[in-house]
Amino acid sequence: DVELKKVFKIFGSGAVVQGVDLQIQKGELFSILGPSGCGKTTLLRLIAGFEEPSAGEVLIQGQTMTYVPAYRRPVNTVFQSYALFGHMSIFDNVAFGLKVRGLPKAEINDRVKDALRKVRLEVMGDRFPRQLSGGQQQRVALARALVNRPKVVLLDEPLGALDLKLRKEMQVELSNLQYDLGITFVMVTHDQEEALSISSRIAVMNQGQLEQVGTPSQVYNYPTTPFVAGFVGETN
Ligand code: ATP
Repeated sequence: DVELKKVFKIFGSGAVVQGVDLQIQKGELFSILGPSGCGKTTLLRLIAGFEEPSAGEVLIQGQTMTYVPAYRRPVNTVFQSYALFGHMSIFDNVAFGLKVRGLPKAEINDRVKDALRKVRLEVMGDRFPRQLSGGQQQRVALARALVNRPKVVLLDEPLGALDLKLRKEMQVELSNLQYDLGITFVMVTHDQEEALSISSRIAVMNQGQLEQVGTPSQVYNYPTTPFVAGFVGETN
């Protein structure tokens, strides 16, 4: 569903992404795991279209996206800072993008209700963000992506701001959504436990390169490099 071919990203300071090859299948919950500064976010931004690769190719659903601007790609991104509009109701927060696109009112209504139902917030539409918990606000941010009916959703440390209990809840929520909707989720995280517990597969990234790509049990039980062994095993 998402494919990277020999992708490089060079900033003034040097190569942040160094020749990444990757294939992510439809319906996966795929995690990119690695330490701070290894290039995870940059890799996600390349898929989203917020960055152009210095070399290589990005394909989504078999089509080359390398020069397609972010807003025309069939992906939606949920960032860690999910900044909801405080003066708008939950319903209006989720409806915002559709209104901007000029969709008919009835369709907006249907889609927003559907998206809120998927994140189990259908009764919260009239509330305002400050009346919701952090986890609920994060679910609104997810609904804002789902309302566009994307095929691919990119998540940048989406649970990073949540406390441990909410984090666990959201992990379950994400797994359920992935299972129910068949959407491809690509998630960036530095939390090995999180990646191991919810992902279909994991890419372990270090200094701009993928050290290992595999299922949680492959990565955990059969690390192929010393870095993976050290990083994935760290908390155990
Ligand atoms: P973290 O988990 O801390 O967010 P990360 O693995 O997501 O880290 P990136 O944000 O991708 O890492 O950054 C990787 C490196 O690229 C960092 O050293 C960063 O300083 C550098 N970098 C990122 N964006 C730019 C930019 N626009 N210009 C120059 N350097 C950048």
